[in-house]
Parts: sequence; structure tokens; C-alpha cells
Amino acid sequence: MACLFCRIVAGEEPAQTVLEREEVVGFLDTRPVFKGHVLLVPRRHVDTLTELPDDLVVPLFGAARDVAGAVRTALGPRAASWR
Ligand SMILES: [Zn+2]
Repeated sequence: MACLFCRIVAGEEPAQTVLEREEVVGFLDTRPVFKGHVLLVPRRHVDTLTELPDDLVVPLFGAARDVAGAVRTALGPRAASWR
């Protein structure tokens, strides 16, 4: 399996997983751009955001909303703002 994210989803690569749902997995970035930097990927491989199938839009962006809320709770209001 060539894709790093798919290997993480399959458990073949170590990751600090923070979210596991039926369609989506979230884990901490190994080279965070900011504190609480979480990467969210669909369990099904998708090359780019513009190729995200309709049925994954709600699961992925619902997870993004929920992670943003959790990061805000954990790190304070400035940590999870859009930049
Ligand atoms: Zn992949």
C-alpha cells in the first residue's frame, strides 16, 4: 500500500490517533504546524479534497468540526481558530 495515510488507517504505520469513526480517522501530525494540529482522512483512499465523494463530505467535515471543538476545549479559544 503506497499511501502513507492509508497505511496509518490500516494500522501499518504508527500514529497518535485522536479520532476513529466508521468513515474517518484523525491523528496528530508528526510535524505540527501549530499546537493540536490534527490530520483527518477518510478510511477510503481519496487523492485530493476536490475528489472527495459526496457521501464522505458530511462524515469528514463533521469530524473536522468536532475535532476543532475538542482542540478548543483542550487548548483554549485561540488554538482552534481558522487561519
Ligand atoms: Zn490513501
